Amino acid sequence: MRLKDGNDLFLLVGVWVALFVIVSRPLGRLISLAFEANESYGQQLLSALVILAVVLTVHQMRKRHEARIEAQASAAAAEQAVARATEMGNLVKFGQALGESLTLDSIADVSAKHFPLLSGGRPAWALIRSGAAWRRLAMTGGRSFEACEKAARIALGDTGAGASDPHADICFPMIAAGEAVGVFGVGSEPALSEVERASVAGVAPLLAVSVKNAQRFNALLESTVHDGLTGCANRAHAMAVIDGELNRSRRTKLPLALIMFDLDRFKEINDKFGHLCGDAVLSAVGKRMSGVLRGSDLKCRYGGEEFLVLLPDTGLAGAQRVAELLRHDLAERPVPWNEHSVRITASFGVTAVSPGELDVTSIIARADAALYRAKADGRNCVSVDGGQGAIESAADA
Ligand code: GH3
Ligand code: MG
Ligand code: MG
Repeated sequence: MRLKDGNDLFLLVGVWVALFVIVSRPLGRLISLAFEANESYGQQLLSALVILAVVLTVHQMRKRHEARIEAQASAAAAEQAVARATEMGNLVKFGQALGESLTLDSIADVSAKHFPLLSGGRPAWALIRSGAAWRRLAMTGGRSFEACEKAARIALGDTGAGASDPHADICFPMIAAGEAVGVFGVGSEPALSEVERASVAGVAPLLAVSVKNAQRFNALLESTVHDGLTGCANRAHAMAVIDGELNRSRRTKLPLALIMFDLDRFKEINDKFGHLCGDAVLSAVGKRMSGVLRGSDLKCRYGGEEFLVLLPDTGLAGAQRVAELLRHDLAERPVPWNEHSVRITASFGVTAVSPGELDVTSIIARADAALYRAKADGRNCVSVDGGQGAIESAADA
């Protein structure tokens, strides 16, 4: 409201005076009541105020203490979460590295690299079982193979392994497709935290699957290059190896020889003793070859009962000696079959590469021709290819 003139102001003053007259009595009563209360309860009010202040302070302190405990618990939980995340991260990295490992050698390398982190610096190891035999996959931290093997056998329930040591490593069986392929062990001191235990327990299944896959992959690879019955290389693989060795011989000027042999009258063995016996004979021939040949020589099953042997760094005369050794070995040791002793002989053709020769088929054809002559000469003998200019090794000279 805006005052327009002296009349309005007069009216306003009148209204204020009337209002004061109305509230002056109750206001006076209120003030006098306050004074009376102060006089009667002054002492009690002060005590009550002190009590209230103490209660409030204690309450505040308790609340602050609870908040501190809660903060400490959250900090511990956060720390554990970080530790768990780190452990899981290490496990994931290990799994990724294993995923790229297709051979036991590369699994061993990955394990040796990751074990120290996964085990928190404790000794860690993994052994693989094949039948009753154990072999080392990876070992970090200086444990002996014997100690690990004992712990692994105990872990898989082998009662003949002896008593467990109270400070023994903690062992986790590596189970894949329901089969224990090995055991992963980790040192028990210092004691593992809950998080560490969960992490190391995850190592064994990862290793188990990788080892099983590598074993399957290896078996598949073997079957593509090897003949299952004799353990020799198959024909296709041998062709590739001979091709590579011809190139190497041309480069290095080192001699290279080839033996081809065929079992004599093998059909008669099949006819007389049955095909299973024939198979046993072929298998025995594969093993005999391994006994006579060097590790660097290539043994191959070329056909049914026909074999090839490639001899790197060997000249014609050396190859002839090897052929004679093989011939004697086969002829002098019959193959046992049930209650029988099956006598076997073979005929051999030997040839050697000429300087610069690169044609696989022509060298095989020469060995085959020599073998044919050995058959014609009455079998159980060695025929040497008369090819000119074969490289001779120093030992043959
Ligand atoms: P030769 O002295 O002239 O070589 O006579 P041979 O009887 O050995 O030769 P032949 O070629 O007449 O017979 C070879 C036999 O080898 C015939 C075949 O049934 C047998 N054979 C080939 N592969 C296998 C095999 O994997 N297992 C068995 N048991 N026999 C096989
Ligand atoms: Mg034959
Ligand atoms: Mg034959």
